[in-house]
Amino acid sequence: MSKTHSAHRTAFLCDPNLGRLARWLRMAGFDARYLRSWDEAAIAEALGEGRVFLTRKRSTAGRPGVVLLESDHLPGQVAALDETLGLGEEIRPFTRCSICNLPLNYAMREDVEKLVPDYVFITHDEFARCPGCSRIYWRGTHPASALAFIDSYVRTGKRG
Ligand SMILES: [Zn+2]
Repeated sequence: MSKTHSAHRTAFLCDPNLGRLARWLRMAGFDARYLRSWDEAAIAEALGEGRVFLTRKRSTAGRPGVVLLESDHLPGQVAALDETLGLGEEIRPFTRCSICNLPLNYAMREDVEKLVPDYVFITHDEFARCPGCSRIYWRGTHPASALAFIDSYVRTGKRG
């Protein structure tokens, strides 16, 4: 069986000014790469792959696949992006590591008992682990608003 691909979902490249947005997008389940420094070749490559390039830099706006974000602040950036691309339908929280940009693996509850705080273990049923950095993620019992994922609850998984 061929590897499943999430090619139908919107994928992003964020410019060096948009690190927080990149993390937010990952928390919302999007494939979001982040440029640590300005790199025209990487931008061209990402656009060639069909990624949407998000930027604060006015001079790059107007190119196909480039979205200029005017706001300096995350909520404004998310709102503008949602208005431009209609992200709502595609948000899949709790599916991607906000640090590594890798899809998370489902984790058995008993396997994370020693890795998360007691109150988290007691109050949550679903856990996932990043295959890259081993961070453990958990989902609240109540559906959280998209912006609540900004403060999502990440803890480094320490292997015992
Ligand atoms: Zn990770």
